[in-house]
Amino acid sequence: MIRAHRGSADGLKIAASRIHGHGLWSVEHRRAGEMLYIVRGRPMRLPFNYDPNRGPNWIGTGWESWIVPERGNPIQFTNHSCDPNAIVSEGLVVIAIKSIPAGREILLDYATTELDPSWRLLCRCGSPHCRGQVRSFTFLPEALRVRYAPDLPVAFLEAAQRVRFVPYLDRILGAKRGQKWTRASKRHTRNSFDHKFRQLPRCQIASEDKFVATPAE
Ligand SMILES: [Zn+2]
Repeated sequence: MIRAHRGSADGLKIAASRIHGHGLWSVEHRRAGEMLYIVRGRPMRLPFNYDPNRGPNWIGTGWESWIVPERGNPIQFTNHSCDPNAIVSEGLVVIAIKSIPAGREILLDYATTELDPSWRLLCRCGSPHCRGQVRSFTFLPEALRVRYAPDLPVAFLEAAQRVRFVPYLDRILGAKRGQKWTRASKRHTRNSFDHKFRQLPRCQIASEDKFVATPAE
């Protein structure tokens, strides 16, 4: 469990990726637990299985709900790897989950940002642990779900339990609900995301959700 949220959104750059197109790179060394950046965007609700090709950059936040990132937000350039070094944690704060040396690409496991059972991504990330086909969180092997869960947002894990209930995630969820949120995630949530998100009607569909950046194919 990584709890600290330190650091700033500086020290990142966009540069060619060995995995796919352009990627997000660290300019400075980052310690595990440091904040890298915050995902900003607008909330979106849509039924699961609606369209597996919708919004390749959408970030799953809970049951049939996503954030559609703002154009230019670093999340749009953050590629997938089956051996990630970052995760989208509570309050949409992206943190390092391991030490990241300067000059290393910032990588997420997209299974940690998606709950739609219909979603699939073909992966050639080059990691020895490459799963080949990436599916949403509840399809991950148990060992990976256990590794990622302590750093994932509570609402995401609660929705994962609705998709497919597993007792060990309930224990992790219970522990997380009891934790005090860090200052960074509290501040962000109060300001923007959470309040608006709860006000949204279901199945609000926007038309302009195709972004240039696509996941590592
Ligand atoms: Zn892979």
